[in-house]
Amino acid sequence: MAAALGTLVFYSDFDDFETWKHALQAQLPGLPVVHSSAVERPQDVHYAMAWKPPAGFFQRMPNLRLIINLGAGVDALVARDDLPSGIPITRITDPQMARMMAGYVLFAVLRHARDIPYFEQAQRRGEWAYRHPRAPQEITVAVLGLGQLGATAACELQRQGFRTLGWSRSPRQIEGVECFAGEQTLDDVLGQADIVVLMLPLTPQTLGLFDRARLERFKPGASFVNVARGALVDQPALTALLESGHIGSATLDVFEREPLPADDPLWRMPNVLITPHLASVAIPESSSRQIAANIRRVAAGLEPENRIDASRGY
Ligand code: NDP
Repeated sequence: MAAALGTLVFYSDFDDFETWKHALQAQLPGLPVVHSSAVERPQDVHYAMAWKPPAGFFQRMPNLRLIINLGAGVDALVARDDLPSGIPITRITDPQMARMMAGYVLFAVLRHARDIPYFEQAQRRGEWAYRHPRAPQEITVAVLGLGQLGATAACELQRQGFRTLGWSRSPRQIEGVECFAGEQTLDDVLGQADIVVLMLPLTPQTLGLFDRARLERFKPGASFVNVARGALVDQPALTALLESGHIGSATLDVFEREPLPADDPLWRMPNVLITPHLASVAIPESSSRQIAANIRRVAAGLEPENRIDASRGY
C-alpha cells in the first residue's frame, strides 16, 4: 500500500516532525513520511506537507500530486511565485482547531466585556475600583469573517448571550447571528460593535482593509481583537487610535512584523494584550485524519477536499 501511495515530505519551522509523522502513520500505516532535510529520492515524493517552506522547495519534486498547507491561513503559500502549476493545494480545516480558536476569541471578548483590563490596572494601583458589569445582551460583538474559524467563534459568542453580528464576502446564515455581507455593509457593522473580532483571511482584497479611516469608524471606546493577520490593519494608525482612546483596548495575536520588534510602542500600552501568534494551531492527531483521507483520495485519482482557490486567495 505504501509503495502505491508514494512518499510524504514534511517541512515546518517548529520542532514537530516526529509528532506529525507518528500521527500520520497512525492513520496511514506504512506511509513513508520524510523530513525535507532527509529526502533521498525526490521523484518518489507525491505529497508535500509544509508551513512556510523555503523558495524553490516544491520544484525539487517532479512527481508531486498534492500540497498540504500545514495550517488554516494560506496567504503565505498563495503569495509565492514558485508553486508548481496544476497541483491541488489543501489547507487544514479541523473542528478541533476551530474550537481552540473559539476559546481564544471567547477569552478575549469576555476580558473586554467584563472590563478586566480596567481591573488589572486598578489592582496594580492597589485600588478597589468598582465598575458595574454590563449584561452580555447589552454588548454587541462583530465577527468579521464567517469561515470555519469565524463561524464557530460567532456561534460561541451568541451562546454566551452577546448580540452577535457577522460579516463575510457572500451572504451567510448562522442561527442567532445577524449576518451582513459585502464591503458596502462593513461600516454599518463597525458602527454598531462594542467589540470587533477580526477573523478574515489575508488576500489582495483584505490587505490594509483596516486603514485609519476604517478604524475611525469603530464606536468610540470599542475593543478590538485581531486573530487574523497583521497586514489587514494599518498598525501605526491602530497604535495612535489606542493611544487617543478612540479604540479603547485591544487583544492582538498577529502583527505586521512577527516577532513584534522589541521597540514597538504596542508592547508598553496598558490597554493592549499581546500574544505571539498562537490563537489556534494545527493539532496533529485530529488534523491527520483529514490529511490521510485526502492522500487516499488523491492516490485513487479523486479530487482532495478542503482545496483552496488560489485565485480567490483563500
Ligand atoms: P475561511 O477561509 O474558512 O473563511 C474566511 C471568511 O472570510 C469567509 O467567511 C469569507 O467569506 C470571509 N472573507 C474572505 N474575504 C473577504 C472579503 N474580501 N470581504 C468579506 N469577507 C471575506 O477561513 P478560516 O475561518 O479557516 O480562517 C480565517 C483566518 O484566520 C485564516 O485565513 C488565518 O489568516 C487566520 N488564522 C489565524 C490563526 C492564529 O493563530 N492567529 C490560526 C489559524 C488561522 P465567504 O464566507 O463569503 O467566503
